[in-house]
Amino acid sequence: MIGDRLWGLFSIDMGIDLGTCNTLVCIKGEGIVLNEPSVVAVRRGTTQVLQNGNAVGLVAKEMLGKTPGSIVAIRPLKDGVIADFDITEAMLGYFIRKVHGRRRIARPRVVIAIPSGITAVEKRAVYNSAERAGAREVYLLEEPMAAGIGAGLPIGESTASMIVDIGGGTTEVAIMSLGDIAVCESIRVAGDDLDESIVNYMRRTYNLCIGPQTAEAIKIEIGSVAPLEQELTREVRGRDNVSGLPRACTITSEEIREALREPVDQIIECVIRTLERAEPELSADLVSNGIHLAGGGALLRGLDRVVSQSTGLTVHVADDPLTCVARGTAVYLENLAQWKTTLESDADGY
Ligand code: ADP
Ligand code: MG
Repeated sequence: MIGDRLWGLFSIDMGIDLGTCNTLVCIKGEGIVLNEPSVVAVRRGTTQVLQNGNAVGLVAKEMLGKTPGSIVAIRPLKDGVIADFDITEAMLGYFIRKVHGRRRIARPRVVIAIPSGITAVEKRAVYNSAERAGAREVYLLEEPMAAGIGAGLPIGESTASMIVDIGGGTTEVAIMSLGDIAVCESIRVAGDDLDESIVNYMRRTYNLCIGPQTAEAIKIEIGSVAPLEQELTREVRGRDNVSGLPRACTITSEEIREALREPVDQIIECVIRTLERAEPELSADLVSNGIHLAGGGALLRGLDRVVSQSTGLTVHVADDPLTCVARGTAVYLENLAQWKTTLESDADGY
């Protein structure tokens, strides 16, 4: 016990949200200390990480702008599954070292929030990567649980809490109670698909080719899923599909709403399916507790209203939905002693 406390003085506890788009690291007592894109720069056609494994996150993104062609960006968790274990390991190791390097005293204790849809093999890979990156103890936490804790929901109590976490690659829908997930579903329809729908819409309707970054900017600036009090417009620039020359046009938020309809409907269907699978006692709780939205997708204008209309439940957007999971891992760390028994039995499986 005393040993544990002494150790606590020298080591740090780190919570990591290993997202498909962004990785965030939260340190107990310090808050969020790292927030970078989950991107790794590799030489085209290889899995060789550039600069001795240091071309990760913001560095990777910056390099890409300057040296296109021979270098490509890889998002190793793009679809919520680990596409490449070595690249994921390089990324996780880089982030852990970056945060820990400045404070290197003792090896850190790490909690990592992972998508609920990943396989046992992928879990094992994340676990081993963190150990190899220098973690003293590693705990894996399912992302909807972390989001629930971050949103301040009473997930340890005997009442149902529901989280819809819309990230970049996956949407995770889960109903939790008594510190565990009762029903969940993860679909590979999320922010990236909304961007892709905008790319397709611009090509179909305006014969204009735009890149994914432009599509994302359009989504963030004028994207919506329900009518707005004041509809918005925006200029869009790209390459004309016919002439091949640069061109600009103006689009409205109504058009973008239409473009986003299909993926948004898929997300709502997933929410409804999950509700249908819940035990009646849990459904009863949700009548009063409602649904909580987290992840970057929760910021889409009007999404709360539409989910509420489709389900008849109250819908809340978590405070700062982009950092919800990371903050949840930090709260989890603070109460680790309390959770440890369940965690340890979970960790046995890896
Ligand atoms: P992940 O957990 O998968 O890394 P995040 O929760 O970080 O994902 O969310 C990233 C997604 O949220 C991206 O698709 C991004 O375009 C989207 N996003 C960020 N801000 C907004 C916004 N204001 N409106 C709509 N989507 C947003
Ligand atoms: Mg996430």
